[in-house]
Amino acid sequence: MSAPSCPACRTLMEEGFMIDQGDHSTPSQSEWAEGPPERSFWRGLNLKGKERIPAVTYRCPQCGLLQSYAHKV
Ligand SMILES: [Zn+2]
Repeated sequence: MSAPSCPACRTLMEEGFMIDQGDHSTPSQSEWAEGPPERSFWRGLNLKGKERIPAVTYRCPQCGLLQSYAHKV
């Protein structure tokens, strides 16, 4: 997929991703999960049975707008 243009200022956006800080401070890529978040006492969020897709986030170097895409591989 080619980089999208910023909807606000039409500048070409840079590809990147959002960092998730996990339990052991290990950085990982943010994921999109289906449905509303369900809190789980033990795991923070209950992700059982939810579809998860790694999210790619584009950033506009002009105005800083972020735009995320979660494509199925
Ligand atoms: Zn912009």
